Amino acid sequence: MNEETTANQQQLPLVVGVDIGGTQIRTAVLQGAKLRSRVSILTGADPTPDRIIPRIFGAVQQALNEAHVTIDQIAGIGVATPGPLDNRTGVIYSPPNLPGWTAVPLRDLFYNHFKIPIFIENDAHAAGLAEYMFGAGRGSRIMVYLTISTGIGGGVIINGKIFEGASGTGGELGHMSIDWQGGRCNCGNVGCLEYLASGTAIARYANEAIAAGHGAELLAFASTMLEHTATVPDLAALPVQDLNTRPLADFDDLMGEIEPLRVNARTVARAAEAGIPLARAIITKAAEALGVGLVNIIHIFNPEIIILGGGVTLVGPMLMEPALRVVQEHAMKAPLDAVRIVEAQLGTNVGLTGAGALIYYYTNNGSSILSGNGGRP
Ligand SMILES: [Zn+2]
Repeated sequence: MNEETTANQQQLPLVVGVDIGGTQIRTAVLQGAKLRSRVSILTGADPTPDRIIPRIFGAVQQALNEAHVTIDQIAGIGVATPGPLDNRTGVIYSPPNLPGWTAVPLRDLFYNHFKIPIFIENDAHAAGLAEYMFGAGRGSRIMVYLTISTGIGGGVIINGKIFEGASGTGGELGHMSIDWQGGRCNCGNVGCLEYLASGTAIARYANEAIAAGHGAELLAFASTMLEHTATVPDLAALPVQDLNTRPLADFDDLMGEIEPLRVNARTVARAAEAGIPLARAIITKAAEALGVGLVNIIHIFNPEIIILGGGVTLVGPMLMEPALRVVQEHAMKAPLDAVRIVEAQLGTNVGLTGAGALIYYYTNNGSSILSGNGGRP
């Protein structure tokens, strides 16, 4: 982050961000991208709204306490949550990761409790906004953010505005068709990018290969990892090569919980690092599907910048090289020449930062940041 941005951020009011995930719910007091406090709770096995929402309110209060501020010093609360949702009414409709959440009026529930402005947004849109305001997308006019973890989400920012679509689901980039004769995705479509290139897809490829009798070497590797996990409580102390410069705990955090299969995406990534051919082939297969997705994004949006975030991107060059090769081979020259494809800058706190950024975005409090970056909402 450059000095100008840091100086601009000191002008911004304090906000609260809430990032609701399938595994963890994070809350924070923020000023711009700077966290003053952070309190996380586990979503738990049975996160029905009546159980979890009072706990979220408690976590927000604890974050306020830890930042030594009261609610009347806060400009608003932004909530990033998995879709589908209506960001105008703040109602959440049955997210796959949150069983029991059927038409939950989240904005009203928050407002009735805290009595300050509340903004609700799709988590990938919020994360894209965070990268636009405070991360790799600063200064861009046409920006696409793609997050690849358990699922794949997208956030498109055009001239400083989140592209919402007609009913709030604009930029569902994980559900573009890559293989129109492919397998059935959770969304009802077939052969989606998410079905072919997410962490869940990587795990599924591995477990299909194992079921077909091709996975002996991969299984042996996985059992070594399990032994290490059992004997070394600190994951960061695992005697395996780091996947990137970022710490392993960060990787787990971003990857989220993969389906309860025998081998998860993280194990496949480690096995690929260790040179196991099946694991390498799986990563390459996911990467090539990602490459096709990037070509589609380039052709549709003609973006200046595509920002890749989420735990799967921490696999690094093994993923990015085949993906970029497909882009080079398939994309039309003019939009290809105009685009930069870069890593996200905000790491694990991107969801929280995006949630907080919603207040700056919707109230114009952040116009000093937004106008310095190609437009205001
Ligand atoms: Zn889909």
